Amino acid sequence: MATMSADDFSIHTKDCPTVGDGMPLSDLPDEVTSIGDLDCECWSEYDSLDEIS
Ligand SMILES: [Zn+2]
Repeated sequence: MATMSADDFSIHTKDCPTVGDGMPLSDLPDEVTSIGDLDCECWSEYDSLDEIS
């Protein structure tokens, strides 16, 4: 499950320590097409977008 930060609209895992008050996302935004589009280190445990949803 992904979470969108309310501060800067960046996308994080629900367990990310930096996301704080986030909004749960049922789907990743369309502009996210690869794991490389997700900047935060909280995604480093994932190898591909298929593992996220
Ligand atoms: Zn994060």
